[in-house]
Amino acid sequence: MNAFATPGPALWSAQAHMPSVIGNQLVITRGEGNYIFTDDGRRLFDGTAGLWHTNIGHGRAEMAEVAAEQMRTLETYHVFGRFLNDRAVELAEKIASISPIAEPKIILNSGGSDSIDVALKLARRYWQLRGRSEKTMILSRDLAYHGLHAYGTSVAGLDFNREGYGTDSLVPETARFDTYDIEKVRQTVAEIGPHRIAALIAEPIQGTGGVIPPAPGYLEGLQQIADEHDILLILDEVITGFGRTGHWFAADRYQLHPHIVTMAKGISSGYSAVGGIIVAPEVWAPFYETGAPMYRHGTTYSGHATSAALALKNLEIIEREGLLGRVQELETVLTAELAALSSDDRIAETRVAGLLGGIQLRPEFSAEAVTDDMVAQGWIARPLRGNVIQLSPPFTTTDDELRGFVAAAVSSLDTVA
Ligand code: PLP
Repeated sequence: MNAFATPGPALWSAQAHMPSVIGNQLVITRGEGNYIFTDDGRRLFDGTAGLWHTNIGHGRAEMAEVAAEQMRTLETYHVFGRFLNDRAVELAEKIASISPIAEPKIILNSGGSDSIDVALKLARRYWQLRGRSEKTMILSRDLAYHGLHAYGTSVAGLDFNREGYGTDSLVPETARFDTYDIEKVRQTVAEIGPHRIAALIAEPIQGTGGVIPPAPGYLEGLQQIADEHDILLILDEVITGFGRTGHWFAADRYQLHPHIVTMAKGISSGYSAVGGIIVAPEVWAPFYETGAPMYRHGTTYSGHATSAALALKNLEIIEREGLLGRVQELETVLTAELAALSSDDRIAETRVAGLLGGIQLRPEFSAEAVTDDMVAQGWIARPLRGNVIQLSPPFTTTDDELRGFVAAAVSSLDTVA
């Protein structure tokens, strides 16, 4: 003990206001299917799939077996220089086969924030290589969440994630654009000057910002602006990739052709820390030519073999169990359940796209209080910006569980209102 000792574990939680959470923490010790269990024996429905990532559900023995077998064979070997490992090669081929981008190259790493760093560095590096040295600006959507590494922090459209570091942005040359109105985006691009803009980055459906599906024509508009002005379009599919919209990628659902797609979470359903980017030929080709410079990026765990083996098995399970189709069915159930809440005057709006749902409460009611009560009743939900309750359970959720989950939100609203 020292003079600064505080109660609570040595572990400093992520994205937590420590004075509030100490004494109120939940320690999870086991997961099985759509449920998790706490150290004091409680069973909770995982209505958020963790952080929108446990898509195939918890505790799959098959995944444990794959990890053990891969570790016995080769835990990993790095992919720097001329080295590769067979699992990373196989995973890249698999992703290429389901990618919304034709003939892509895949860079693998350890998570969503990593993938944002790689994508945005690559966008700038690409334009420098093409001799367009003035193209350095990265534009992102208001209310965007792109993880919390230096680049993700810098392009955050949730301003609170950018605050307190002494400058508006940790990396230079970032700006935000409107999240709803494509005409305003056009204006911002014109004001900044398209010749200065390297890339537009966007979540197709904004997650942490409050589950915001795209306004009609908005994403198509971004595509058009990018195409017209020689700007790279980067879709952040860290949440939406690998099935959460009922398609492999939201780019498929909305018929977009991005230059770069970022991915993580659902690629392994969280059974290992994997992320990466999918790169279109236009962007990778200049780095593959004789005499080209290298793209100086990579980490020890880029293409980690055991992580890749787990991602491959996860994708196999999604295909084998028809989980993309199942998400489409669950979207129909969720849409009907939330539509039935339209007459509830405590609710401002409900939103659904794929198996992503949000219930936005009127300001007199607190999403935080409601989700706290839901957790106490055995249903995990999270409050998001905008007084929104996040609903994003695993793809393996039953219709009854989904209906029960929405009913639990209403019941908790009754309790705390
Ligand atoms: N991008 C989006 C859209 C996300 O929702 C997240 C995480 O929630 C990230 C990036 C960052 O991913 P990670 O937490 O794996 O670093």
